[in-house]
Amino acid sequence: MKFREAVVLLLHQEPLICEVDVQLTSKLDEDVYGECHLDLNKKRINIMVAKSLPLVAQLDALIHEWAHAMLAGMPEEFHKHGPMWGVCFARCYCAVYPR
Ligand SMILES: [Zn+2]
Repeated sequence: MKFREAVVLLLHQEPLICEVDVQLTSKLDEDVYGECHLDLNKKRINIMVAKSLPLVAQLDALIHEWAHAMLAGMPEEFHKHGPMWGVCFARCYCAVYPR
């Protein structure tokens, strides 16, 4: 499983309500694995994952941030790691690691 293959699986199996940009970047702080930003004006989601991580950790971060992105239509849940996010995380995990 390559990083880009995981993005394609997520796009097909857990589509988002906005266009999404996914970047592997070296611009995040050292202790940050990933970030998800929602731009409601431009109707775009930007997911960034730390390039320096091993692939398995990049995939974990991607799954984590994609679960946030799935909550883009629920601003009160978007930044939380609550039950809604947990369900989304599980769905993303299953999309990337099918049985
Ligand atoms: Zn999070």
